[in-house]
Amino acid sequence: MTARMTARTTVTTPTREGSAPVTASRVLVLNSGSSSVKYQLLDMADRSRLAVGLVERIGEETSRLVHERLVGADGAAGAGGDKRERLGPIADHEAALGAVAQELAADGMGLDSPELAAVGHRVVHGGTRFTQPTVVDDEVLAEIRSLVPLAPLHNPANVTGIEVARRLRADVPQVAVFDTAFHSTMPEYVARYAIDAATADKYSIRRYGFHGTSHAYVSRATAALLGKPVEDVNVIVLHLGNGASASAVRGGVCVETSMGLTPLEGLVMGTRSGDLDPAVVFHLARVGGLSVDEIDSLLNKKSGLLGMCGDNDMREVLRRAGEGDEAAATAFASYVHRLKKYIGAYSAVLGRVDAVTFTAGVGENAHQVREAAVDGLAELGLALDLEANAVRSPEPRLVSAEYARVAVAVVPTDEELEIATQAYALVTQ
Ligand code: ADP
Repeated sequence: MTARMTARTTVTTPTREGSAPVTASRVLVLNSGSSSVKYQLLDMADRSRLAVGLVERIGEETSRLVHERLVGADGAAGAGGDKRERLGPIADHEAALGAVAQELAADGMGLDSPELAAVGHRVVHGGTRFTQPTVVDDEVLAEIRSLVPLAPLHNPANVTGIEVARRLRADVPQVAVFDTAFHSTMPEYVARYAIDAATADKYSIRRYGFHGTSHAYVSRATAALLGKPVEDVNVIVLHLGNGASASAVRGGVCVETSMGLTPLEGLVMGTRSGDLDPAVVFHLARVGGLSVDEIDSLLNKKSGLLGMCGDNDMREVLRRAGEGDEAAATAFASYVHRLKKYIGAYSAVLGRVDAVTFTAGVGENAHQVREAAVDGLAELGLALDLEANAVRSPEPRLVSAEYARVAVAVVPTDEELEIATQAYALVTQ
């Protein structure tokens, strides 16, 4: 524990009139992107969700805020929930968070409430410096800023979100929760690329991994689903959203993950290529005459499913493949083939696998992807109950055949709850 981390551990706040103290158990979770802010207000007393929302197209004329107040102990939407929308220009993140604060205040859950215990911020890159959730002070903020060269698209917006939230509630701890942190336990020989060591060190080139908050949550939830202590469970987590990554988690500790220096490496994704021969980059530059920025954009934004068939949404890829569209079928087959390779590789890394868990938009919803990825892996102990696999459900569940040695699970991820849990644990310890 550093002095910084213990700086704010008070969660009982006196009311303005000096009457009985209020127990602060609410956490606002902010996920600030370059032109959007996603937020959730949670009550950690019962882990319920009080409000969720999104501000998008910040800085444009057509900005939009969607806010939903959630009612019901489990935070389930629709149980008396109230959804509101605001259209019109929102100039910057300051204005965006101001508008969010107004919406929350209108619901009687304003950010000036003494019940607010912390603001939890998703921060994409923590480098090697941040391996735990951290209360932000000026020094921490400067260090997060210094990591911008490693995450030029993400960290600047995360910093802005923290700065604005700090101005809004200077007295409430702002906690940074890093996407890279869960992967910091990877052994050095896994994190290192096999390149000149001095060059790697000079430029901070190593495998960091991303989606860590999701991998942490889902690996623990898998152990719970199996009814075993997390220490006893080895799991391969497949986080398949628009971005996609795999991780090998031994007894709750991450030992390998597929994203690397940046989120470009690993699985085939919606718009990213994932693994490729690095010489593709030289070839495109030398023979194709493309600039570094053009290649960056090609591999990050115009590749993956989109590059291969023109659609990055798996629903569309599946629909077209089902109608006999060859490009869509090839894109799907490539996507699934890469998944199989990682399941095989991580089975070898772990030695013993207890579960393979699918999560995020594709992993939770596309039964065809789960079926195709596991198909033919009986020798690795994997087999599905095809009927169970085809059932749509928002619940964590097992979809493996009863006789299978390795469980196959579907666990909806909840990064916001995980960020709130980590932030709240830090400020109340
Ligand atoms: P991210 O958080 O990375 O933006 P999500 O985890 O929300 O992404 O996943 C989004 C993706 O999930 C969509 O691009 C789409 O491909 C996929 N998806 C969502 N619903 C379904 C579905 N019913 N069937 C297949 N794929 C789906």
